[in-house]
Amino acid sequence: MELTELTIQKMHQGLEKKDFSAKELCQAYLTEIEKKNKDIFAYLSVNKEGALKKAEEIDELISRKQEIPLLAGVPLAIKDNILVENLPCTAGSEILENYIAPYDATVVKKLKEEGCIILGKTNLDEFAMGSSTEHSAFGPTKNPYDLERVPGGSSGGSAAAVASQMALASLGSDTGGSVRQPASFCGVVGLKPTYGRVSRYGLIAMASSLDQIGPITKTVEDCRIVFEVIKGWDRKDSTSIKLNSKFQIPNSRQIPNSKFQIQDLKIGIPKEYFIRGMNKEVERVIQKAIKKFETLGAKIEEISLPHTEYALSAYYIVMACEVSANLARYDGIKYGKSKISDAKFKISRLIDIYLKTREEYLGNEVKRRIMLGTFALSAGYYEAYYLRAQKVRRKIKEDFEKAFQRVDLILTPTSPTPPFKIGEKLKDPLQMYLADIFTTSVNLAGLPAISIPCGRINNLPVGLQIIGNIFEENKIFQASELFQGLNSGFRP
Ligand code: GLN
Repeated sequence: MELTELTIQKMHQGLEKKDFSAKELCQAYLTEIEKKNKDIFAYLSVNKEGALKKAEEIDELISRKQEIPLLAGVPLAIKDNILVENLPCTAGSEILENYIAPYDATVVKKLKEEGCIILGKTNLDEFAMGSSTEHSAFGPTKNPYDLERVPGGSSGGSAAAVASQMALASLGSDTGGSVRQPASFCGVVGLKPTYGRVSRYGLIAMASSLDQIGPITKTVEDCRIVFEVIKGWDRKDSTSIKLNSKFQIPNSRQIPNSKFQIQDLKIGIPKEYFIRGMNKEVERVIQKAIKKFETLGAKIEEISLPHTEYALSAYYIVMACEVSANLARYDGIKYGKSKISDAKFKISRLIDIYLKTREEYLGNEVKRRIMLGTFALSAGYYEAYYLRAQKVRRKIKEDFEKAFQRVDLILTPTSPTPPFKIGEKLKDPLQMYLADIFTTSVNLAGLPAISIPCGRINNLPVGLQIIGNIFEENKIFQASELFQGLNSGFRP
């Protein structure tokens, strides 16, 4: 087996048995990056020296016969909106083109403490706004399965890096589907954790009430391992949550969350997700996956999430409003590039610095959302748009709360279509927004959900979305592992 095909457990065993060194492993990934990144463009920047140096440190530990953590030596890719100290962090935007992160995000700090190696920073739609990675200011990432197609977005670089053996695992961020949809398009596993489960400290904010960081991996087992490290309460993120052992999930079906038999499992299929607009072949692949759960012994039940049809509209209001507030900080004064000293414009007034800087260095999709959000929050429109969207959000949450009194997990497709062609949806923002139709409800309700590979259409991967009740990542993992068969998920 090639070094770059190993999963985390196998890699760890290999390091311990000295079948190979951490440096050899790291070098194997760097060689893949040198070979493939010019075509796929998953990485915006590569941390070659830093990665090799860290690998040497791990080898040093092993040679001193010290026990190493499971994740020691794991070569990781980090989405370029998550801060890694002293590495560039562009968020896919020209305005942050020269920005160097002054500190580590909490998730990065935790991974470094376990001995992970950071290979580099991956491409994304500008400020994570998009579903194809085509909105990156630095050019699109390509889907490793077909270079004429998109890898999904916004964490397209992170998903493509794992799918093409340019990283063992990666981190993405998910505001409306940005971990799950690219995982689905690239045939890998991607988890969006429960809101509050993973610290957002050091994540460049898009829409703060929806953003969560999540792992993208080759197998479900790897996904669980990375999640176990990055999760947990953080003093630096006031929305992160402290769970104690007595914590009970309100109104949940009480099957033990630790270990269960598949026969105990009740799975809901929301009828609203299997109507118009879905690609027929995607539907066929998903129905087959549902059958597989049934054959394994799970009980399948039709459920209703009646407010589903309003989810996308509510998401695109709530998200845009938060975007307009969060992106106000890019003003040409505090961070990144600025028109402050541009003689060409003879800038004399403060407002002109803001206007010229933002006009010049922010992309069209970002501007569109800032304008929509500013409009929806303005006096006279606030009640009609923002407030109403928040009420719909509550309804969507209640739909799920009701459903989880009857079922343990909910299955849906991750995306209504297989990976589309580069350029296909770029001119029509609404078409692009429809790519998120199955993923945004989960963020509005704050729930955890995974995308796992479940089939192919003309060799293009299709992802199955498994949604759980709040804090029930464990149940999602167990069901996914049963479906995938431990360690057998990834077939490059
Ligand atoms: N594709 C969605 C959007 O464009 C989701 C983005 C995300 O999750 N970061 O908003």
